Amino acid sequence: MPYGLMNSHEFRFGNALSFSFEIKHAQSNSLARVGTINTPHGQIQTPAFIPVGTKATVKSVLPESMKDLGSQALLSNAYHLYLQPGPDVLDEAGGLAKFMNWPGPTFTDSGGFQVLSLGVGFKKVLAMDAQTTRHDDVIAGNKDRLAHVDDEGVTFKSHLDGSMHRFTPEVSMQVQHQIGADIMFAFDECTTLHNTRPYQELAMDRTYAWAIRCLDEHKRLTEERVGKPYQALFGVIQGAQYEDLRKKAATDLGGLESNGQSFDGFGIGGALDKGQLGTIVSWVNEILPENKPRHLLGIGAPEDLFVGVENGCDTFDCVLASRIARTSAVYTMEGRFNLSNSRFKRDFTPIDTECDCYTCTHYTRAYMHHVFRGKEIIAATLATIHNERFIVRLVDQMRQALLDGNFGDMKEQFLGRYLHRSGQARD
Ligand SMILES: [Zn+2]
Repeated sequence: MPYGLMNSHEFRFGNALSFSFEIKHAQSNSLARVGTINTPHGQIQTPAFIPVGTKATVKSVLPESMKDLGSQALLSNAYHLYLQPGPDVLDEAGGLAKFMNWPGPTFTDSGGFQVLSLGVGFKKVLAMDAQTTRHDDVIAGNKDRLAHVDDEGVTFKSHLDGSMHRFTPEVSMQVQHQIGADIMFAFDECTTLHNTRPYQELAMDRTYAWAIRCLDEHKRLTEERVGKPYQALFGVIQGAQYEDLRKKAATDLGGLESNGQSFDGFGIGGALDKGQLGTIVSWVNEILPENKPRHLLGIGAPEDLFVGVENGCDTFDCVLASRIARTSAVYTMEGRFNLSNSRFKRDFTPIDTECDCYTCTHYTRAYMHHVFRGKEIIAATLATIHNERFIVRLVDQMRQALLDGNFGDMKEQFLGRYLHRSGQARD
């Protein structure tokens, strides 16, 4: 029986409302593969980069432009949408895709990362910044922090108005079902590289217990919300930099079944040391069920995407492409640079002469320099279109290279140019 049709819910059988994953090609010398994720809102050809629209919008860019630049799906944030406008509003609107006028598949993360990130310095740790605290109370109770985690869930203070809220696995599932994305993630405890080993073990046990509760609540909601498009649930693999913990998490969650419900796919999350990214991802992907999609959470730098793809990840999301675009930083084949730099004042060439995006085919570096210097709103729009196109296309090219059997050459060629320039100067 094809995977995705294992549940007995009638509406999952053989119609457009079901979820499935097909592998079209698998590399013989690596974990890389090419496939198709089928969702009720359309297909995703993998490997694929999924741009982030945190609050149901990719900041400054129209959904039509995201479609035009090749984005196959968008990922939004359950925590932000829970606080504003509220998941009931999205439910009433007909779900996330319809609400934001996005004509394709959508993802939501569980809110766990954002809720737990409310601890001071937490994001920096995940960004692999070494100058951070080294205590478990980064996420445990502390009067300076906005989140407190216990075995049942996480209590946190809204970053918008200071009001108190509580997320449990059940609440996260209820919120994500109301938001209505095609792919959701289980509520997990995200740790940092600086948590102690005993704390990592504790957090992993918690994540496992929460995974079971997510599956149960997901099953209950799926049955209750009859007639809604099926929403797939991905389990999240934690375990930081520890081989035994990562492998245990992959084994436990990969084989987990509760009341006949198992995960539809997996997210690889948590603290990932950049230098060890490939090693950690391969530990996990060698164990996870081959026939289910794997999403590498929050990774989107060009060099990291190659590592993710060759180690068996199918989809990726990251805010980096749009976030740096708004600060005038752009990716090019020759590396990353900053359009605010005065050397672009009279540069009438495109941001990247090899780029086919709307921005590069209509505007010059001199114009971009001008609108960034003038703090014009269009600067963010045009730079974001370029950066998102650059990353989406890069992963599309990796997919094609896998099919053509020249992934190694393509990687070497790209990184040879990209890192050479980036290594010299960022601006
Ligand atoms: Zn471009």
